Amino acid sequence: MIFTDDTVASLGFVAALSDTVEGASESGDDELVEPAQLTALLDAWYYSGRRDGDARELDEVRSARARLRGIWDLDRDDMVGEVNAILAEARAVPRLVRHDELDWHIHAISLQAPLAERILVEAAMALVDVIRADETRRLRHCAADDCTGVYLDLSKNASRRFCSTRCGNRMAVRAYRARAGEGVVS
Ligand SMILES: [Zn+2]
Ligand SMILES: [Zn+2]
Repeated sequence: MIFTDDTVASLGFVAALSDTVEGASESGDDELVEPAQLTALLDAWYYSGRRDGDARELDEVRSARARLRGIWDLDRDDMVGEVNAILAEARAVPRLVRHDELDWHIHAISLQAPLAERILVEAAMALVDVIRADETRRLRHCAADDCTGVYLDLSKNASRRFCSTRCGNRMAVRAYRARAGEGVVS
């Protein structure tokens, strides 16, 4: 096990949120333009705590998405700066909590804080683990040339290449066709 379950869940959510942008989403369009789309994403990840469900919250989460996509690309030392900034801005105070069906885990911000702020702080806390373990190489970009997706690579040798099986299959078909095409020409 590289990371704890809650760190993996947090980073999985960050990748899922990041991959709602145009060019990374399943539809190819921005999939975070309606409050209902945000609700569906949060439900899919059993995201706890306050939800306003309004346009303002959606706007704030969209800003958080852009910030997190930027952080995903940073090298380890620069990532530290952003992680520390998020924790300081939110005056994060780590504490152990137990709620719903979940056993003791860390929250660094109140469940009643605005959603976008909680998303940033939870991402920052997960990135603390990644940075401390010196595993930032596992914060990956999809190798498909037409996809800007990101993903957490938990494979044994950090060797996973695509954000999704959708991209993996598409690239495999393309590589096959390219080989077949070359065969016809030559
Ligand atoms: Zn919790
Ligand atoms: Zn992809």
